[in-house]
Amino acid sequence: MKHGHFKIIFTTIVMCIFISITVYANSTTMNILIDDEQVLFYAVKQNERIYVPIGYFSRYLGKSVSWDGEHMQSTISSPKLHIVLTMNSNEIIIDRNYIHIIGLEFSGDMQDIIYPKIINNIAHMPVYVIWNIFEYYAKVEDGTLIINTPKSYGDFINYLNLVSIYVDDILDTRYLELINHNYAIQHLPPTDNLRLAWPTLPVSHIEGLYLHQTALYATAKLIAAAREYGITSLFVSSGFRNLEHQQRLFENGNPNYVMPPSHSEHHTGLAVDILATGIAMQHLGDFAEGIWLAQNSYKFGFILRFPQNRQYITGISFEPWHFRYIGRPHAYFINNNNLVLEEYLHLLRKHGSLQINFNDEIYYILHQIPENGMIYIPYGFIFSISSDNLGGYIVTAHR
Ligand SMILES: [Zn+2]
Repeated sequence: MKHGHFKIIFTTIVMCIFISITVYANSTTMNILIDDEQVLFYAVKQNERIYVPIGYFSRYLGKSVSWDGEHMQSTISSPKLHIVLTMNSNEIIIDRNYIHIIGLEFSGDMQDIIYPKIINNIAHMPVYVIWNIFEYYAKVEDGTLIINTPKSYGDFINYLNLVSIYVDDILDTRYLELINHNYAIQHLPPTDNLRLAWPTLPVSHIEGLYLHQTALYATAKLIAAAREYGITSLFVSSGFRNLEHQQRLFENGNPNYVMPPSHSEHHTGLAVDILATGIAMQHLGDFAEGIWLAQNSYKFGFILRFPQNRQYITGISFEPWHFRYIGRPHAYFINNNNLVLEEYLHLLRKHGSLQINFNDEIYYILHQIPENGMIYIPYGFIFSISSDNLGGYIVTAHR
């Protein structure tokens, strides 16, 4: 062997080692459970984003996959689906006829959320794509990626005995109304639904702090449970706000956190800001108090409304203190599937119905757009109804 060749081989080996080290330095593999079954391939965690191998994943779910090396494209197809994913690109083609370019608003660091890419020589797609295209739920628990495929949508509609009622006749709880940058509140809660938070709750100020009665009692249970766990420093700093109050906050506040008047969830009386004595609100999420709230509030019907890394959907930065009451089965589902309210309502709208098994009960959730002023409710069930503030109604029913 000539000396020159040896040098090239040696350099190549050194480079390979170097590349391997840089690739693996920020990559870890993760087990995957799909519908409670451990699969024989792995997810990769890279720069805090999680990717699954497109080929293995799709074939496991009964779809066929092809790879076009020239165009760096994976094509996933099944009788109902045709998706083309281009590596390192946000161009995702769905259903042959339609081209959705998902995430045009994504830039810089956020691009990683939707860009498929080659990792360890295999085409991978980010978990965000799994949710967005396949509408499978993905979450990470104890270092395992858990994916559930929806099966129960709509099945039960056929065996429920539905009766129609007039929308004008219902008692609208408004628990599931979406209030955000795009959707303003239409009706502030009637004042006789509002209760002074003190002395039921520990508060930052006694005067003028009101909550919707349902949110008040749910917050009392939440704070009592925290106390039982050993967290005694929680108190409520904000509840119901009228339009003038929000206007004042908006004029003096940071737009990443404060909504303009009519667009704040605080107008519903169902949003509550919970703080802990001695902890700056922005840092609440770093302390046991904030972590406990984030992990347990769903048991009392609340969601952490503005979670970390979801600003691209909610429009609001991480707010570890802001909890929104939406009712227990819904909060359970959102928490379990790592969604935000916008995603949950989108899902209900799209599928029309959902079955949630929670607390040894089966909850039937039916989303409907009124026809001739009427919606359907299942006969013989305990139910409640909330408008979604998008023209639809959500019926929550159980035996
Ligand atoms: Zn708030």
